[in-house]
Amino acid sequence: MLIDAHCHINSLVSDTVKPVLGKKDGYLFVDVSIDTESSLKSLGLSEKYSFICSSLGFHPLADEEFSLATIERYREFIEDNPNVVAIGEVGLDYKARLSSLEQSNIFREFIKLSLELKLPIMLHNRWHDDVIFGILDDYLSDYRNVIFHCFSEDVHFLERILAKNGNVSFSLNILRKKRKIDEALKEIPLDNLLLETDSPYMKVYGEYSTPLDIEKVYNYAARAKNVSLDEIESAVYSNAKRVFGF
Ligand SMILES: [Zn+2]
Repeated sequence: MLIDAHCHINSLVSDTVKPVLGKKDGYLFVDVSIDTESSLKSLGLSEKYSFICSSLGFHPLADEEFSLATIERYREFIEDNPNVVAIGEVGLDYKARLSSLEQSNIFREFIKLSLELKLPIMLHNRWHDDVIFGILDDYLSDYRNVIFHCFSEDVHFLERILAKNGNVSFSLNILRKKRKIDEALKEIPLDNLLLETDSPYMKVYGEYSTPLDIEKVYNYAARAKNVSLDEIESAVYSNAKRVFGF
């Protein structure tokens, strides 16, 4: 079973989504939303397809206006829906149109919702390390229910996550063989590892990706960590089961 812990099937165009939805066995996709519109699409997908589950979030780069009514809508989307396995992506991004304070306030609302609904947080982070860890630490004593998605930082950042037993998801960008990401991938214990494509946004060799590219991530990670494909598959499977609860 290959699990893609973070992809955006809800934003694939019809040509590329067909082969993904035609998959029956051997794959499980965590479809991630970025605003209320994509959340509704994701809910439709996870309702219809047994191999898709939803992670609903409000991306810091989303164009949609945020208000407290937005949180209420998300509560309605998520409450009592077994197809929703996480909240996110949520977090901080230095490219966002909102100020860091506005972004932090939204992020905090979603952390509170995740605690209330007992779901893990799918974290998007492009900000100063201390700010992001500071906000998380205001609410959480450890990171067992946090997924640091699309890991692109260095070993030092990884060690701060591991010190609090967080989950780290490596994406298709490992194929670019950046030294610091490679080092982090080698260092991470199998017990904290998840794998994802972040498709279609993550481009590989200049092309938009699909969740079916997840196989390349597993192959690369197995080689980098010098373990068999079976070992990586079963480690990611049991980590995903523990974090997402499916
Ligand atoms: Zn994403």
